[in-house]
Amino acid sequence: MKCLPCGAAELVRDTRDMPYTYKGESTIIPDVTGDFCLACGEVITDAEESRRTMALMLEFNKQVNASMLLDRLTHHCYILETGNESYRFRQSSEEAKVRIQAREKLKRSGKTPEDSLYEENLF
Ligand SMILES: [Zn+2]
Repeated sequence: MKCLPCGAAELVRDTRDMPYTYKGESTIIPDVTGDFCLACGEVITDAEESRRTMALMLEFNKQVNASMLLDRLTHHCYILETGNESYRFRQSSEEAKVRIQAREKLKRSGKTPEDSLYEENLF
């Protein structure tokens, strides 16, 4: 099959690491399987491989955006590390601990989450 975008070359089935750049930051999308054009570099993948590579690209985009956001927020700041535990982290850890204990207790009892809601008279 000829390359649809350029029409210049036959496509070659292969698995390659593909470079990917977003906002000037680069990464490698590993093991991309598809039909590669040796003339223009186009790659045509099936739907599943397309979903996999898109998910990796979007994840990389998120990392780049988070990094840029932090860079902007801290541009004219001095970061002081006090060594104290964050109260936000402590609070969320305690809340998670209570949720996990409740879930494990429910698992051990063999009841469904709906059963426990009835028992607690929430419905
Ligand atoms: Zn091509």
